[in-house]
Amino acid sequence: MERMAASVPIHLPVFQRFDCHSCTYCCRQPIVPVNEQDRRRIVAAGWPDRMAGQEIFVPGGAGRRQGYRLARREDGACIFLGDDNRCRLHAETGAETKPLACRLFPFVIVPGVGGVRLDLRMDCPSVAANKGRTLSVHAGLAGKLAAESGITRSLPGVPAWGAQRPITEREFAALVCAFESVLRPTGLPLRVRLAAGCHLLDLLYDARIDKIRDERFVELLELLANAAMEQAKESAGTDTGGARKIDGAPEPGAVRGQPLPARSGHLFRQWLFLHAILDDPEAVRSSGRLNRLAGHWRRYGQARRFAAGTGVVPRIRPHWPDTTFEAIDAVEPAGEEALEPVARALRLKLDAHAFAGPAYYGYDLLTGLTALWLLPAVIGWFARLAAIERGGHALSPDDVLTGVRQAHETFSVSPVFARVSERWRVRGLARPGVPAAILQRYGP
Ligand code: SF4
Repeated sequence: MERMAASVPIHLPVFQRFDCHSCTYCCRQPIVPVNEQDRRRIVAAGWPDRMAGQEIFVPGGAGRRQGYRLARREDGACIFLGDDNRCRLHAETGAETKPLACRLFPFVIVPGVGGVRLDLRMDCPSVAANKGRTLSVHAGLAGKLAAESGITRSLPGVPAWGAQRPITEREFAALVCAFESVLRPTGLPLRVRLAAGCHLLDLLYDARIDKIRDERFVELLELLANAAMEQAKESAGTDTGGARKIDGAPEPGAVRGQPLPARSGHLFRQWLFLHAILDDPEAVRSSGRLNRLAGHWRRYGQARRFAAGTGVVPRIRPHWPDTTFEAIDAVEPAGEEALEPVARALRLKLDAHAFAGPAYYGYDLLTGLTALWLLPAVIGWFARLAAIERGGHALSPDDVLTGVRQAHETFSVSPVFARVSERWRVRGLARPGVPAAILQRYGP
């Protein structure tokens, strides 16, 4: 008999809602990893006999990790997904016989600074649409899942501030608060608030913090956040940013955006390309050497086309329409009312401390914050592709929601961003003026 896991106090994002609406999205993921306890529970519940000789576990957990995952049906769904779209494990032998990964989804337990925190997967349709009850209802479950996952403590230290001195927990809280404060709904358009975050990053890229400590550090962050917001308001008042008016309505006939340096554009589109890739690592591993080589060569060509950013868009995901980079660029931005999920996506990562350190590929604070602030541009590009797919010329709220979900299939999830080369790519974009120019060109 397995011991019931204890519960862990867990910090929840109070602005987020969730309830499962049985859409089965999580049951159609290429990898549902199973750990040894999961396997034991499923076997003990008699499923090898119930499945009449069908394979239940196949080798190959997530990423490079060894281990097992659940077998899939021919249509790619989990072997346990019934014809009525209900989980057979849940329905026939109880929710506790489901693998931990299934019981967790869409929750992500994060060892944060000063305590355990809850992040959520925004590729889940209910999370993206903010559908369901407030998360306080799920606090007990989240605490138990944290204990079962073995994430019961906070981070031993604060993620690094580049090569500069380590910052304290209080200073880290001030940093999170400064970025959170620019995102909070205040009646200002989100584009102005995102621009303020870019200005704040610009100020921090050049900041030498070695001699500024404790209370002075906290005061400095407050000052910089206020200055960044004033700068964003001022630019919005005097300069509507080319093609994008700050109230979100398209500016007919105007030239879009501030100039984006060519090299930064290349780097960003390669970053975007990596967010599009949804390879099943096990399928790649088992495809044979020649196929693997051909696959690498194909990806190399696609990456070059993304870097160039002109001509036909390579079809990375099967549902993508035939289109060109120029056609995507021409889709007009969304109205302000469509942008709420974009702000919430950023607030979730800040609230969960899931933007740097172990919760984001080990990135240092400024690199992680830069990656986070580029997320709306990734969302905007996917959203424009969705608009083209439905024949639209301007982003609708549904396009933005699709962009949010598609970007989060890989953002914070795909193992490719753990590579040193990707960390350096984002560092190459962490330069004054660059995140703002990328957002203005690609943001939703
Ligand atoms: S075990 Fe159940 S909940 Fe998990 S993926 Fe399969 S059908 Fe979905």
